[in-house]
Amino acid sequence: MKNKITIAIDGFSSTGKSTLAKELARHLGYVYVDTGAMYRAIAFFAMQNKYISKNFFDSQSLINELPSIKLVFKFNPNLGFAEMYLNNVNVEAQIRTLEVSNFVSKVAEISEVRSKLVEQQKEIGKNKGIVMDGRDIGTVVFPDAELKIFMTASPKTRAERRFKELKDKGDNVTFEAVLQNVEERDYIDTHREDSPLVKAKDAIEFDNSNITKEEQFKKVMQLISLS
Ligand code: C5P
Repeated sequence: MKNKITIAIDGFSSTGKSTLAKELARHLGYVYVDTGAMYRAIAFFAMQNKYISKNFFDSQSLINELPSIKLVFKFNPNLGFAEMYLNNVNVEAQIRTLEVSNFVSKVAEISEVRSKLVEQQKEIGKNKGIVMDGRDIGTVVFPDAELKIFMTASPKTRAERRFKELKDKGDNVTFEAVLQNVEERDYIDTHREDSPLVKAKDAIEFDNSNITKEEQFKKVMQLISLS
């Protein structure tokens, strides 16, 4: 493979998209973009400004504020990947909580939010040499990507992974709450009107319930060498 390509990785939450994407980017010398972090940062902004809470969502106020929201990825050489900055503040830790996960899919349903972020994502990836993960990368952001991967795994497997991750970080969560969040997000993400999560026709599907990260990485590298 001589020329740099675009690699689009879509799929359900906690299927290991970002782990695979980071590994590929490191190996190929590509830029990695976690688009979920962008939706999470907007959800965090809505929470901070009290536009969203358990039974309330003032989506219009959030839409009005969108032009003033600045999202920037800054590469952290110690970690080997870029971190998310919301209006010049590093929000990487704050956006990974279960609370943000509980609101993010409602924020991601809003078309105005999606068009702002999709525009920024297209700009970041315009020169190729990029691995981008999300829900609509192969269908909306880069429909012409040379390689599209679609990742799935059973809800229980995914919730177990996410539960372990949150526990390892010291978050006080129950497995039931994590499983409920995974199922709720699957439902909203696949049923929304604007850019629902679907497998692109030309995407290659990986159900990684029963294969290791290493096997998966090897298979994707083989696909890349063919593209
Ligand atoms: O990938 P991650 O789990 O961090 O994504 C958080 C949420 O952001 C998803 O559940 C989905 O609602 C939204 N999202 C999206 N489109 C993307 C990336 C994420 O709608 N491209």
